[in-house]
Amino acid sequence: MRILVIGSGGREHALVWKFLQSPQVSVVLAAPGNGGTARDGARNVPVAVDDLDGLVALAQAEHIDLVVPGPELPLTLGITDRMRAAGIPCFGPDAYGARLEGSKAFAKEIMRRAQVPTAQSAVFDDAAAAREHIRRMGAPLVVKADGLAAGKGVIVAQTEDEALHAVDEIMGQRAFGDAGNLVVIEECLVGEEASFLCLCDGERALPLPSAQDHKRVYDGDAGPNTGGMGAYSPAPILPDDQLEAMAEATVRPILRTLAKDGHPFVGVLYAGLMLTAQGPKVLEYNVRFGDPECQPLLMRLTGDLPAIMLGAVRGRLNPAALGQKPQTALGVVLTAKGYPGAYPKGLPITGIAEAEALPQVKVFHSGTSLKEGQLLSTGGRVLCVTALGDDLAQAQKAAYAAVERIHMPDSFCRRDIGDKGLRRLG
Ligand code: AMP
Repeated sequence: MRILVIGSGGREHALVWKFLQSPQVSVVLAAPGNGGTARDGARNVPVAVDDLDGLVALAQAEHIDLVVPGPELPLTLGITDRMRAAGIPCFGPDAYGARLEGSKAFAKEIMRRAQVPTAQSAVFDDAAAAREHIRRMGAPLVVKADGLAAGKGVIVAQTEDEALHAVDEIMGQRAFGDAGNLVVIEECLVGEEASFLCLCDGERALPLPSAQDHKRVYDGDAGPNTGGMGAYSPAPILPDDQLEAMAEATVRPILRTLAKDGHPFVGVLYAGLMLTAQGPKVLEYNVRFGDPECQPLLMRLTGDLPAIMLGAVRGRLNPAALGQKPQTALGVVLTAKGYPGAYPKGLPITGIAEAEALPQVKVFHSGTSLKEGQLLSTGGRVLCVTALGDDLAQAQKAAYAAVERIHMPDSFCRRDIGDKGLRRLG
């Protein structure tokens, strides 16, 4: 099998790494890939994730048997529709299904139709009406730009003023461009968050083990939101024996609704959950693996993932083909200091081989490139240092021991990845 992975982050490196373990797989291309995908044996091809023509041409020229888009952008732009039209299997939703992530207003409407529990909300295309709603409702409120905003379009406003300011930023200053044509204003939910992902074949949903991400940049969930500073799986807050019920409540109703609309959902459907005192509620859907949740998840999955994905594209997902290691996996994201604000690039990275010499450690690359054999940072999130352990405490210890072996000037990481889960375990 010849596979094309679209993207250049840690998630895509983990997918490449996993695919190359399959005995069926002969070639993996990464477009555009990173230093880690190249080191692990994928062929990086400099085609951008939003260059749909270039990606289809590449898949055709390389006789690709399976395309796996990592990030949301190519999915919302319609890469699956384009590949499908060219007769190439693509493990991802069509553009209609990808709107679950691409438009929060659309996601809310589908959730309403599917009767999935979620925060009360209202949608506005007019700033004055949005402001009036905020004054009527009072704080706290959550104000969201409708479209894709690189994880920055959600403002949890503790005061009315903050909420009004958020509307001004999104609709007045157009901080997120067209993503702010609509705003969604929601009731503020209280609880602990968990990530719940399913592999879907249009009809069936196969739950993956739970995971927990760490969005804020500093220890103790302080500081601004980021793409994700670390993750572990399983998350004690969502044990394995609750996954089926969670799929019934939050994913399968969505699949039925999208199928009714003539757009069966294939790919990863990821529900961002708030586990509230009134039960689980969906904060958002993503239509792809999360990054960094994907890295610990894939460390634990057993079974032939490319075959499972191809089965899903054909509408025949085989739940028996997928297994999981009983251990816990935990990944710590190493960033360039300054991220998510301004940060330096081109920092030399050493010590990865030393880190991976430790048992059950894998270093996934997020923002790196290989230049004449030297690994350099190219992004804010640089590596996701991931380890398996017999339990959460062991996995945490192993991952941080590996972090110690890696050297990059001005690097930064959170020191408390996993602590929340450990507290829950007592
Ligand atoms: P989203 O992209 O919609 O998941 O929002 C990003 C983050 O904002 C979430 O991970 C939550 O931490 C927070 N958030 C979003 N919606 C709500 C809500 N209704 N109540 C409280 N926090 C929220």
